[in-house]
Amino acid sequence: MDKFIYAPATPLLRSAISIVRLSGDGVFDALRKCFSPSFKEVTKRTALVGTIKDGDRLIDEVVLLLYKGPNSYDGEDMGEIMCHGSPLIVEEICTLLETLGGRKAAPGEFSARAYYNGKMDLVQAEAVNDLISADTEGAKTLALSSLQGLSSGRVKPLRDEVETMLALMEVGFDYPEYDDIATANLEEIGNKAQKVAEALGSLIKEGREGRLVKDGVKVALIGKPNVGKSSLLNALLHKDKAIVSDIPGTTRDVVEGDLNYKGLSYHFLDTAGLREGEGAIEKIGIEKSLEAAEEADILVLVLDSLNEERPEIDESLRGKEMIEVYNKADLLKEEKEGRLYVSALKQDVEPLLKEISKRLGLGEKAFRTPSLNNARQLSLLSKARGALLEASSLALGGGTADIVSSLLLEGYNNLRELLGEGVTSDLTDEIFSRFCVGK
Ligand code: GDP
Repeated sequence: MDKFIYAPATPLLRSAISIVRLSGDGVFDALRKCFSPSFKEVTKRTALVGTIKDGDRLIDEVVLLLYKGPNSYDGEDMGEIMCHGSPLIVEEICTLLETLGGRKAAPGEFSARAYYNGKMDLVQAEAVNDLISADTEGAKTLALSSLQGLSSGRVKPLRDEVETMLALMEVGFDYPEYDDIATANLEEIGNKAQKVAEALGSLIKEGREGRLVKDGVKVALIGKPNVGKSSLLNALLHKDKAIVSDIPGTTRDVVEGDLNYKGLSYHFLDTAGLREGEGAIEKIGIEKSLEAAEEADILVLVLDSLNEERPEIDESLRGKEMIEVYNKADLLKEEKEGRLYVSALKQDVEPLLKEISKRLGLGEKAFRTPSLNNARQLSLLSKARGALLEASSLALGGGTADIVSSLLLEGYNNLRELLGEGVTSDLTDEIFSRFCVGK
């Protein structure tokens, strides 16, 4: 028999209450050996009050929740011990559970079990982690709707449609003598595949917006030395994160900080400045700032209102969304039409935040539309869309049925993988290893 698993479900910190979670065969037997008063067969969810003892030694007074599988988080028999919030007590309970035949759970193992037991699909399981990590209301709303199955619910009908198309193609293969049926089929298939590809395109667009809501927006400040990037970063974050000085090249490293603005989390990066560096350290700084800028969702090119020199923009950054902003507006007598001005010195940076927000173009909807928004999901949506587009153009453009069919199958499998159907445990191990222990 496999060992049952256990883990603290709360951080090992002093607090009012801590929770130790257990799951698997033998959980109730193990608890009977250490919890009193004794309890009989567990048939439903139950809450008990009592003590946990190691032999005669009292460990703590606790509340014990019992869940008879499959009516539990992961579908197995489960227990939750709510003890006093002392790391020492939690450790004593865990040690006791080990001696009673338990094994410490791996990160995400409870959620992995929930997935393998069919309590949730892979998109829902990923949402559990997103929910815990969410630090804005929008991110939380999206994660909750995914957890409720609303995001997977948008893929499932598309997966089913491709499945129906594959079945239709089978008819053509099974009765090759009815050539006209096969041809009619191909045209119908081509049109249907096009429609599914379009729907996948919308899901991808919404997923990208959802990703910004969920993960936040990376904004890199770039520009020549001394234009006021560090000052601007400090003004944006309302604190002194970056070193401000009038000696060019003071920012040698990438300085970063987060800001929550109108429900969206922004991650700002102040870079070392795009310019020819002399010393080795400066060169490393420049390389790092380039890397940071390449990863950003939006670039803010900071210019000096009094000195209009512009930096050379590296080729790898061209084509990125870029906002030009003129700093040190406080030194100007007259502002020019059509330019965005700020003054880091006067903490007058709101116009820049407004412009970034405008460029992102995220409507109200992006904060509440259930979306498939992590890298894994977006990549599989794109692959599926690619396969369906190709299937459609071949089906409508005289391609053979077997190629069209194999492309449909490819798209179908991408969508199944997205939902975690028929995937290898290597993939899911990788996903669940990013979870907390005890979740
Ligand atoms: P960086 O090299 O681009 O990071 O520039 P810094 O933030 O270090 O600023 C360079 C100099 O410009 C410092 O002396 C700042 O005090 C000054 N400075 C920055 N922003 C402003 C501003 O909005 N107005 C004025 N008058 N001076 C500024």
